[in-house]
Amino acid sequence: MDRGDLVPDEVIVGAIAERIDSEEAADGFILDGFPRTVPQAEALAAKLEELGRRLTAVLLIDAGDEEVMRRLGGRRTCVENGHVFHVELDPPEREGVCDIDGSELIVRDDDKPEVIRHRLGTYHEKTEPLIELYDHQSLLRRIDGGAPPDAVAEDLARTLATLKIENNV
Ligand SMILES: [Zn+2]
Repeated sequence: MDRGDLVPDEVIVGAIAERIDSEEAADGFILDGFPRTVPQAEALAAKLEELGRRLTAVLLIDAGDEEVMRRLGGRRTCVENGHVFHVELDPPEREGVCDIDGSELIVRDDDKPEVIRHRLGTYHEKTEPLIELYDHQSLLRRIDGGAPPDAVAEDLARTLATLKIENNV
């Protein structure tokens, strides 16, 4: 994972199926960042059918590579408590210093340009095919990830509220 690679499918599908089948997911569940590959999506679909559950929708937060590079590459994380800032979108009062506890802000390995590029490559190869797959199943809802963070959050909340009404849950 440190190299931006993916966890083996059987491990992750097994763990997720266990959670979906538990009491905490009885009223519904949101899978954040899963599935990430077509085989995972197929394994998930088979498992859900077995459990008598289904996906209501798939939310795609859509942003181009440049935007992803800008968003992730600009993150600065505090070494003491993991507080997160962004050089453009949420800059600290003093460059390189955490507003909350005064500790040093660093670029995490995950947010280094070469790691982001590797993750984007993995995304295009393995994850992007899911867009067409779920679009064909009429499950896909697109959120404009290039919008300001507040607008993205609002769009997500609105989409979830609409889904709740449509599905009467
Ligand atoms: Zn801090």
